[in-house]
Amino acid sequence: MTVSYDRVKYSSDLDNCVHCGFCLPACPTYLETGSEADSPRGRIVMMKKLHEGDVEQKSVDLRRHIDKCLGCLACEPACPSGVRYGDLLDVARDRMNEARPFLQRTARASLLTSLTDPDKLRTVLKASKLSGGLPESVARLLMGDPLGTPSRLSLPQEFDIAPLPSIIRPTGERRARVGMLTGCVMRVLYGDVNSDTAAILAANGCEVLINQHQGCCGALHGHNGFRVQARTLAKKLIDAFTPFDGLDAIVINSAGCGSSMKEFGHLLADDPAYTSRAAAFSALCFDTSEFLDQLGWIAPLKSLPIKAAYHDACHLAHAQRVTEAPRRLLGQIPDLTLLPLPEADVCCGSAGIYNLTEPDMAKSLQRRKVQNVIASGASVVVTGNPGCLAWISAGLTEHDIPVFHPASVLRASLAVDPLFSAEL
Ligand code: SF4
Ligand code: SF4
Repeated sequence: MTVSYDRVKYSSDLDNCVHCGFCLPACPTYLETGSEADSPRGRIVMMKKLHEGDVEQKSVDLRRHIDKCLGCLACEPACPSGVRYGDLLDVARDRMNEARPFLQRTARASLLTSLTDPDKLRTVLKASKLSGGLPESVARLLMGDPLGTPSRLSLPQEFDIAPLPSIIRPTGERRARVGMLTGCVMRVLYGDVNSDTAAILAANGCEVLINQHQGCCGALHGHNGFRVQARTLAKKLIDAFTPFDGLDAIVINSAGCGSSMKEFGHLLADDPAYTSRAAAFSALCFDTSEFLDQLGWIAPLKSLPIKAAYHDACHLAHAQRVTEAPRRLLGQIPDLTLLPLPEADVCCGSAGIYNLTEPDMAKSLQRRKVQNVIASGASVVVTGNPGCLAWISAGLTEHDIPVFHPASVLRASLAVDPLFSAEL
């Protein structure tokens, strides 16, 4: 089932593209292939043909080029005409999903359900640990055509860390009251990062409230053409945060989730029961680094003598335009050297489930990222999105360069950890 959309507005949004080509050098798939069909401008032309009925949704050629788009949104800030490429892409993918081969569509929908339901994700992780990874037959079902070599992800060895308490008290006087997204993938795979996030918030005077029954934000569904499910999940998440009155912010430590939650007002603009609630919810959403940078960091920090390179997660840098806040926070850590990373804002190839559905392009971009990390001379990579953490870690396995979330690096530098209540 697809979501209905305003055809006249969509047509006018497509026409905002004046074909200037300024976005081409920012596009990772264009950088890799040099092909107009794998550029934002080329894809917009295809979306227009699809919209006007000149090509069929089932055209494999068209689907190949739209599928190969990472949805990284690097083309948006590069565009002088303000084309909202992400919106155009979401609608095109929603329509194209209908024309996908049945087995592939079902496999993708099942994968999204498994990834975004913590109970199902635990089961899949345990099974894949036993079998040594995603079975090749399943991986091949997920892929586009022509098929590539299935990807291997580097996931944390330990998952399902104990959940955080529902209320975490601030250190010292309360400066803010925040709700925290614990996420679906984050909760199961990166519970330690959730704990690190809560610790740095509390250390800076935030009371942190956590709804233990909150669900998925729907980002992965929305970005993969399952907009009906994305809207349902968005409404459930808004409901989950509704009991928290008087929040100063909803804080998010996953770039992909944050970018979607900031767009709930837009996603649900035509749903009378949620229009104003969704807009109010989105206005409260902040990435952790963005929020702490605005609040002002006050927690004392101790020395952390490391050479770090910061990789811009696409949905933080391009979708949310948050680039300086994490660098400023990391830059205040005594003895931490932040080295320039060449092409820091070029996608690493992870891109949600892209590394499973488009493994060849994902691996090319992973290799490109690894080469740039090595060229930077860094001994540690820092990035604020679970997909980037897992994918860049996989690429750096043989180079002994670990990858951390900014919250983890900042917590390691706290002079006093509020969750341990002891001097480190
Ligand atoms: S979203 Fe990323 S991959 Fe897709 S067209 Fe834009 S820049 Fe290229
Ligand atoms: S998307 Fe923007 S930058 Fe790219 S060709 Fe169209 S108008 Fe130019």
